[in-house]
Formats: sequence, structure tokens, C-alpha cells
Amino acid sequence: MKYIFITGGVVSSLGKGLTAAALGTLLERRGLKVALQKFDPYLNVDPGTMSPYQHGEVYVLEDGAETDLDLGHYERFTSCKLTRKNNLTTGQIYEAVIAKERRGDYLGKTVQVIPHVTDEIKNRIRQVGQYHDCDVVITEIGGTTGDIEGLPFLEAIRQFALEVGYDNALFIHVTLIPYIKAAGELKSKPTQQSVAKLREIGIQPQILVCRTEYPIDRDLRGKLSMFCNVSPEAVIEEQDVTHTIYELPLMLQRERLDELVCKHLRLDLPPADMTTWRRFIDRVVNPEHKVILAVVGKYMEHQDAYKSIYESLTHAGAEADTEIDIMRLDAEDIEAEGPDKFLAGVDGLLVPGGFGVRGIEGKIQAAGYARRHNIPYLGLCLGMQIAVVEFARNVLGLARAHSTEFDADTPDPVISLMDDQQHAVKLGGTMRLGAYNCALLPGSKAHAAYGRDTIQERHRHRYEFNADYKERMEAAGLILSGSSPETGLAEVIELRDHPWFAGCQYHPEFLSKPNKPHPLFKGFVHAALDYRKARR
Ligand code: GLN
Repeated sequence: MKYIFITGGVVSSLGKGLTAAALGTLLERRGLKVALQKFDPYLNVDPGTMSPYQHGEVYVLEDGAETDLDLGHYERFTSCKLTRKNNLTTGQIYEAVIAKERRGDYLGKTVQVIPHVTDEIKNRIRQVGQYHDCDVVITEIGGTTGDIEGLPFLEAIRQFALEVGYDNALFIHVTLIPYIKAAGELKSKPTQQSVAKLREIGIQPQILVCRTEYPIDRDLRGKLSMFCNVSPEAVIEEQDVTHTIYELPLMLQRERLDELVCKHLRLDLPPADMTTWRRFIDRVVNPEHKVILAVVGKYMEHQDAYKSIYESLTHAGAEADTEIDIMRLDAEDIEAEGPDKFLAGVDGLLVPGGFGVRGIEGKIQAAGYARRHNIPYLGLCLGMQIAVVEFARNVLGLARAHSTEFDADTPDPVISLMDDQQHAVKLGGTMRLGAYNCALLPGSKAHAAYGRDTIQERHRHRYEFNADYKERMEAAGLILSGSSPETGLAEVIELRDHPWFAGCQYHPEFLSKPNKPHPLFKGFVHAALDYRKARR
């Protein structure tokens, strides 16, 4: 088994995760089985309790793990199906080490960062390799070299490489080459220093992936090679992509990153066949049609808060040969100024998941606007719940209907806490999480979209549709088109008297891929296209 470790230098937000994912794409298309893994040096056990402002989206895996959003890139760029073992945090390591210490497993020894914490980290790398039974494990180390909290991880991968041998392990350092305007130059010094920092702890990266706004010329390449002690061909230029992040594997292939990786790891393989990948990008870059879709949420200025949703729209847009013009609307603005001003020109409306009361009335108003004006609507998790609240208030006439998450004393709790959530006291990892079955109602739009009777989708919620209101809602035109065969929980709702209005209690955005758009996103984009054509 081969191991690739990806570290980051100079600044955060370099796109290490994307680089790891793109390398995964290339290696997979050379015929290797890859597994990707991320180490996050923070003390939180998982990002589930962090605000999207802190951390961006929480990506949910099939097994219910709440993970870093880079795992979303891994699943979208490769066919690797990840598990909770593929995202390791310092919090998890300490939790495990302290539990062992309390059990007495260390037999009287002093428990220390080296070897106990580092052993725990090394075990995790091996476990992931074994579980996936893969040819290559790609491990991304979160954070930046020089961070105190990252040191145990770096020490662990240094030891690991020594143990498996240098033909079987490879260090790739992703770094920034800043452009200094006043000097009109790209600068190599920060990278020199960050590599020096790595070498100080015994890691010599064999490949530098250089994030840069401008091409790296021969002189600079020579300098980086000389001072960072890597061969000139191993200085890989990674410029910002022009149109879509899915261009990255192609860019890295042109720079021969995968060739170099194979050479270092002594893998003799045919080149990666990128035909289908290229075809996908062509459709993203040169679409025939266009739709304007509004996303009404709470973290609109934050690039990463709804990452998987935006990616899913890209996938569905490509399939429909359609450019998706996303209008990011803040629910609080709609609350303050009403929906007409913002939603009059849109071809579709999407309300994503969320927590907390801020902006909730704006989301409810937006859903009502879509319902009344026959605008295609896709509500995800909270987006489904608020659509139910809107229906209860304005169709059933239950003026104070609400979710008990936002109004504990509502006379009509149309969305309420699930039974098994009544007594959950800890916030971390206690929601209804991960994959659950859902049976679809024949003849419904959801059934038509999926083309099957049962599906499995990933969840992350505490509240649910209150079945006490089922009959009244159905009589008024709300269709419960998906439900859990095991528990009866409502999973999908739609509207009888509307061209395309759907809400799901789960998160379809975690299952969409390039060339394999999710059925609901696909249905939504096609409905938006139809709506636009009809309107013209
Ligand atoms: N806050 C809602 C709940 O807990 C919705 C969660 C979500 O949108 N992910 O049920």
C-alpha cells in the first residue's frame, strides 16, 4: 500500500482539500483504488457543533459522521465512499487516548504525545488503508505548517513514512507563492521558510504544489527547487482555475503531478483517461440554456456554508446543459423588505438546511411566494420544515403554526421534536444522522424524479413533521410523498396544485456528483428551465 501525505504552507484556504481530491481523481483514472482521509488538528471532536461561520458546511457521511467539508470534495472527485474513520481530529485522538488511560491500558506508563498520541494517529492511517482495501491512501493534514496544534500529526506522518519505507510514502506540500505588486514579482521566500519548518521536524517534501496567480518562470522554479531541496520538475504550478473547480485535475495532469507521484511511488500505470471528466467540464463551461435560482439562507456571504448545495446545482446544471445563475439572498433581508422585491425574476427557489431562529420568517415568506407564484421550490431539511409551517399558516389558516424549535409555545406545532430527541442533553453528535431508508409514493413527483420505490439519503436533524397534522394537510393539497418505512417519519413533501414544489427532510446535496447529478436537483433544475420558458 502506498501513502501520500499532503501538508499546507504559508496560509490557510489554499485549497489543499481540492488538490488532494483532484490527485485522487487522477490516480483513480490511472486504475488505482484510492482512499482519502483528513486530519484536523482542532480540539473539537467533530465540526458538528461549529458554526458555519467558523467552519463552513458540515458534511455528513453515510454512517452519520459529521465531518469537514473537504470530505465532500473527496466523495465528489472520487468513487471512495468515506466513513467516520476518514476524518480524524485532535479531539477524537485525545478522547481515545484518555479513555485507554482510564481503563488502565497503558499499564502504569506515563502517557505522552510521543508515542501515545502519535501511535493513535498512525493507527488511523493504517485502519483507513485496511478498511478500504485500497492501493493508495491520501492523507491531508489540516492547518498550516508552523501551527503548534499540527505538530503531533506531522511527527506521526514522519514516523509513518520511515516505517513503511520511502518508496511507499510521499510528502506533497501545497504552498502559496505570493505576488508582490510593488515589486512586480512572485516571491519564493514564504515557501522556503515553510519547507524549512517541515525539514526541521524531519519531513522533506518531494513535491511542491505552488498556488499562484501567475505562471512560475524558470528562474523562480530553479530557486524553489534549490532552496526547498526538490527537483525542478517537482515544482508544480497550480493557478486559480478559470471556470470551475472541476478543471483542477486537468490542470494538475498538464503539470504532470500524477506522473511524478507514480514515479516516486514506483507505480507503472497508463495515463489517466479524463474523457468523461472533460465532457462534464465542457457542459459546465459552455451551456446552452440559463436559469436564475435564488438560494435563501443565513450565511450567504460565506463561500463555504452551502458548498455541497452549490456543487449539486453545478452537477444538475451540466446535465441540463444549463448555466445556473445563483442569487444568494439573505433571509433577513426578505424578512425586512418582503419577498416580491427579491424573488420577482427568479426561475426557482431553494431554501437550505439550518438551525436557529434568525431569518426564519424571511424563509417562510420566500416559500409562500414560491407556492403562490408556481415557482419551482426545493426545500432541504429546514427548507422542508418551513414550507410545512407556511402551508399550515396560509393554507390551513393556522396563523401561529410553527416549529417548536423556534416557538416552544405554538398552539400548532406542525414541526416538533422527534421522540428520541426529547431527552438528548448533549448537543454533539446526537441528531438523527446519516443514511436512512425512505419509501416513495408511486405517482408522486419524487417517485418520478428518482424512478424507484425506495431510496437511502443522509440526514442531520432533530425536528420532524408532526403526524397529527397529516390528514388535514393532505386534504388541503400537501402530499407526503416519502416516508421512513421503519418509523413512519415524513421524508418528502410536495404540493398537489403546483408544478414542482418539493421539500425533503434529508440532505440530497451530499450524494450529487459530476456526471451523476442528484435526482431532486435534476428535477428542480429542469422544472426551473420549464418555468423560465413558460414565462418568456
Ligand atoms: N434545525 C432543524 C432540525 O434540527 C433542521 C436541521 C437542518 O436543516 N439540517 O430539525
